[in-house]
Amino acid sequence: MLRRTAMNAHTPITSALPFAVPSSRWDDEVAGRLSPAELLLYRSNLLGSDLTVTNFGGGNTSAKLEEVDPLNGEKVEVLWVKGSGGDIGSMKLDGFATLYQAKLLGLEAHYSGPDDDDKMVGFLPHCTFNLNGRAASIDTPLHSLLPFAHVDHVHPDAIIALAASSGGEAATQEIWGGRIGWLPWKRPGYTLGVMLRDYVKANPHVEGVMLAGHGIICWADSAKACYEHTVQLIADAANYLNARLGSAPAFGGQKVAPNPDRAAIAADLMPRLRGFMTGARQKLGHFSDDAEALEFTGSADFERLAALGTSCPDHFLRTKIAPLTLDPARLQDDAYLAQKVADYREMYAAYYERCKRGNSPAMRDSNPVVVLVPGVGRITFATDKTTARLAGEFYGNAINVMRGAEAIGDYIALDEQEAFDIEYWLLEEAKLQRMPAPKPLVGKIALVTGGAGGIGAASAARLLREGACVVLADRAADAVEEVRAGFARQFGKDVVRAAVCDVTDEAQVQAAIDVAAREFGGLDILVANAGIASSAPIEETTIELWNRNYDVLAQGYFLTARAAWPLMKRMKDQGGSSVVFIGSKNGVAAATNASAYASAKAAANHLARCLALEGAPHGIRVNTVNPDAVIKGSKIWDGDWRKERAGAHGIDSGKELEEHYRQRSMLKRDVLPEDIAEAVYFLGSDMSAKSTGNMINVDAGNAQAFTR
Ligand SMILES: [Zn+2]
Repeated sequence: MLRRTAMNAHTPITSALPFAVPSSRWDDEVAGRLSPAELLLYRSNLLGSDLTVTNFGGGNTSAKLEEVDPLNGEKVEVLWVKGSGGDIGSMKLDGFATLYQAKLLGLEAHYSGPDDDDKMVGFLPHCTFNLNGRAASIDTPLHSLLPFAHVDHVHPDAIIALAASSGGEAATQEIWGGRIGWLPWKRPGYTLGVMLRDYVKANPHVEGVMLAGHGIICWADSAKACYEHTVQLIADAANYLNARLGSAPAFGGQKVAPNPDRAAIAADLMPRLRGFMTGARQKLGHFSDDAEALEFTGSADFERLAALGTSCPDHFLRTKIAPLTLDPARLQDDAYLAQKVADYREMYAAYYERCKRGNSPAMRDSNPVVVLVPGVGRITFATDKTTARLAGEFYGNAINVMRGAEAIGDYIALDEQEAFDIEYWLLEEAKLQRMPAPKPLVGKIALVTGGAGGIGAASAARLLREGACVVLADRAADAVEEVRAGFARQFGKDVVRAAVCDVTDEAQVQAAIDVAAREFGGLDILVANAGIASSAPIEETTIELWNRNYDVLAQGYFLTARAAWPLMKRMKDQGGSSVVFIGSKNGVAAATNASAYASAKAAANHLARCLALEGAPHGIRVNTVNPDAVIKGSKIWDGDWRKERAGAHGIDSGKELEEHYRQRSMLKRDVLPEDIAEAVYFLGSDMSAKSTGNMINVDAGNAQAFTR
């Protein structure tokens, strides 16, 4: 779909968003160098990486190729078909399952009717060619049962729009004049493969078949011809729909204009909604105010269409049976929000009860995934950030489908019982049960001030490694962006954000907290770490130096904790939240010639204890880590502080200083940022769920700093 970015705040939507029209990107020169299997991969990647053709993970491709059987050296026909999981845009050759075509055809002896669909899946591994470990998907029979060398099956928006409209069959006839057939809805599986094969046998002239409520399947004699056939069919559908959308606004026209403050509204709303969700793990949120979301939620037909739910199984599995819709005039009303979320859970439980079968798995999470607010946009929640983002994108596809479907007839959503049977399919349940347990911090949102520095970045990395989403806040814009980019490469772009924030600036602190709220949905772990250090005898300590230490170390910690408080209070019933102050040995032990620094650190340490007392009724824990002499990676130790401390100790500021601190410690060891990060992880996680008001010294042992 075309993305219209940066929609103006008050833009009235005067015409419907158009469907993108794909064109062939085939390169004969590239293709000429490829083996038959590589040609299949090339075609698949071309289709899958073109967002106008297919959505994430959707669709599958196949080729029936001649291979040499490793058992007897004889030539044998092998079906290469996209395997289970992954997506055709980014897959590699190992993403294909390879199966003996003759054995696949022989499976029909085991098939006696639709009730055998699950049983048939179990036979697929027995057809594996060449010990390929890639599992075959349930769509395999669509490919194996068709007598064509190359087969594509995709679900682009323009195609599903036809497939999910009351006018879709007539439109298919009008566009392709009988060249493309039409099969009524049937959920994916062996039976659909048989229906398709029989349909094509009875209609030998067709070049492809629309699968109602689902997508399209088509074929050709070569990889190139198949690819270009698929692209042309999508372009035909898009052109047809665009002509019918015309210049009129979609969905009955605009009723609610995009709200210019929608980003701020989302930042305010998301932590509150998240607080009303239930379950063993916190939810991660994703906000989008893209053109699709604003056009749809602000339209006259919004409530009617949203209630119908999505159509294509791909969309439905990501977005749940229906979205939760909210009245933009009542977003400030907590009782209203709580009731709406509770009502949704009740609606979902009723759907489960209505549709469940004798052997259905237990009811899953009943919280809403998609939340729609007119004028604001689309908010999605899931147990991890990527799933939340993808759910939002799939709902965006569903909006496109509804727009196209309504342009040529009435939009038809997936039948409720069919939807249920897909959602609670027994074989899928088995797959869910085999999934590894999530990492300890999955679902948690952390914000680390001073996130570009040694201890801050090490702490952020530790939290990211355990599955948390992290906002890095730092006043150094370039440095924090560099650290963010590095973490995005290491942990994925979804889970880390950067905010430029000087902790002495109240507005910037609030803005950084708002980033956590808007980008992830709230805040569970605050690591107050941004610091400075100074060294001066009392008589040389200016008011400016004194205030600078107190501004950053005392007031800065106060401002970040105060801004975090409202978000953290929301998580009381979901395991609570945790504030971790990075203190200092000098907050406990007296320091020579550093009275401004050390006393400001002591103020922060005591602030932590006061906040522990105040936070406990809200489930907010507050603890402190006291490092000492963490020199590696520290910006503080890069500058004057190093020279000043060396001067204070009467030694050289280079290697000698590090040796001095090592020897001064009881354990004679260096203290590294990663050591502090371990304590941050412990205090931020549920491992310390019953600890608050505590200090952990990470200083290689310093008797002066023993707490008493
Ligand atoms: Zn499909």
